[in-house]
Amino acid sequence: MQFNEMNLSAELLEAVERIGFSEMTEIQEKAIPPLLEGRDVIGKSNTGTGKTAAFSLPIIEKITEETRHYVNALILCPTRELAMQACEEIGKFSKFKKCVKPVAVYGGASMERQIYALKNGANIVIGTPGRVLDHLRRRTLKLHNLSTIVLDEADEMLNMGFREDIEAVLAEIPEERQTVLFSATMPPAILQITKQYQTDPVMVQIQSAAKTVDSIEQFYVSVPMGRKTDALHLLLTDKKPASTMIFCNTKKMVDELTEALIARGFPAIGLHGDMKQAQRTQVMNSVKSGRSTILIATDVAARGIDVKGIDMVFNYDLPQDHEYYIHRIGRTGRAGKTGTAYSIVSGRKQEYELRDIARYTKAQITEAAVPTASVIKENAMASLKEEIMESCAMEVSEDARKLAQNLMETGISAEDILSAILNKRVADTMKTLPLFDIPRPISRKKNGKQETRNTVRVHINIGRKERIAPNFILGALVDATGLPGSDFGKIDIYDKFTTVEVPKDEADFILDAMQQEKINGYKVSVKIHEERGGKEERFSGSDRQRSHRDGGRDRGHDHRGGGKGFDRRGHSSHDKRHSSGGFNRKKRKG
Ligand code: ADP
Ligand code: MG
Repeated sequence: MQFNEMNLSAELLEAVERIGFSEMTEIQEKAIPPLLEGRDVIGKSNTGTGKTAAFSLPIIEKITEETRHYVNALILCPTRELAMQACEEIGKFSKFKKCVKPVAVYGGASMERQIYALKNGANIVIGTPGRVLDHLRRRTLKLHNLSTIVLDEADEMLNMGFREDIEAVLAEIPEERQTVLFSATMPPAILQITKQYQTDPVMVQIQSAAKTVDSIEQFYVSVPMGRKTDALHLLLTDKKPASTMIFCNTKKMVDELTEALIARGFPAIGLHGDMKQAQRTQVMNSVKSGRSTILIATDVAARGIDVKGIDMVFNYDLPQDHEYYIHRIGRTGRAGKTGTAYSIVSGRKQEYELRDIARYTKAQITEAAVPTASVIKENAMASLKEEIMESCAMEVSEDARKLAQNLMETGISAEDILSAILNKRVADTMKTLPLFDIPRPISRKKNGKQETRNTVRVHINIGRKERIAPNFILGALVDATGLPGSDFGKIDIYDKFTTVEVPKDEADFILDAMQQEKINGYKVSVKIHEERGGKEERFSGSDRQRSHRDGGRDRGHDHRGGGKGFDRRGHSSHDKRHSSGGFNRKKRKG
């Protein structure tokens, strides 16, 4: 259906046409008629479906010369970007209707300027709940004539803890009003709000999720704990996506991963809700201009942000909500293009989670191997060859030709010269690659019996202060080294460090394998523990924990003695893989 088939005024149709819209999106087609009638509406639809026009066109349509002097509509959004974005769009839609004046209010920006704008004839206010409430309490925003309130991305606002603010705002506005709610998901908390604050609402929803996801190839890689960044590095190097989004669950993780990828030479940039406005604008500009091709974001920060042409999405952390999986991967494969999504999982718990996601979304998520250095090299060589063949077909600068002649005159053969140049190029690609495949050491079992081995203690620089439990330590050791859990002995956790008994002949290997390991999110350094003649206790302070020298095993953590925590056979994701997955499992390499 075209916009001009809708009962909208000529000014609006003209503006919409100028923007370049002709066909309405599904949500617009379904929501605009009841909104024009003044009905309450619940709209369920994903990001990028055109909700802004859906709710704002009817609002703009209803503003008249008589009603222009007060705030007709209030739109609550979860983030500053969304408020600004919506305000900008409303500005465009009302280009030919001069009486409409949208104003955005949000935290982290000058209060004075907002107060000035509100005083100067604002009749549509778009804002984040906190700042709107702030203005209401200062009486710089008056809503007694309000006729429409819109809760945009309502689920996200609840996730961000805006529930009380939203309810406080709802309590301040006239009861006779139109209440509109848009949300990508409909958790019970949302339904409760609609029940409490809406009257006889019309439900509009679009069943697009499955359709959009069809064009996206979905994979997962399963990697040892602490190796997600390495796996990502290898995948990015091998697949060379032109534009990617990587999702993390926390701001901290966004920062850490951005830093790590930049350090490895990737044009990455992070976006999260804690950033100052200027910073966020900078981030978006950098992405839109193509300076940064890897955008790392939390769900909240990414919500509603319009980035085009993403060809690959990575779930660095699995989404906490199953529906988010669909929203995240839906960032790629848009506008008839195909896209690819990779989820990186680590450990059995995450594999189970992903299996649940696959079941819930009815998606085919196929296991893929992390590309090895040799695969990457092969692909890099192939594309280098292609690149050179292409260059051969192009004009060569005078300078380049002179230099070539110069080199040939030295008497070195053309093949040698070319090889030298290529060698450098290949080496450049390969030099920074992380070592991913740690060779598994040979088993120490002899005649079915475990050999008695000399042990040493290794020192890991995290302890009770970091809330470390023995199974975290053992899990990380097993994952990083591929050694069986039974190779590790007593684990003693002190305030600031932990010691683990390990076979002496494996100690160097273990130190090496643990180099880039993270335990419970902490980067650790591992070294041979310097024995201090039984004086470790002095590090413990008030700590009741004592080393094995002065107590029974209930205080130490000898997991081999049937202690608590970890699977005694030392299973890790290497050793035992459940096979009852609801998702496909390709044969693993290596
Ligand atoms: P949502 O709020 O659902 O995430 P937006 O309202 O931000 O979606 O719209 C997403 C993108 O689609 C924007 O770039 C917008 O300009 C564009 N868009 C919206 N409606 C139409 C339409 N009818 N035709 C073409 N493009 C549209
Ligand atoms: Mg929106």
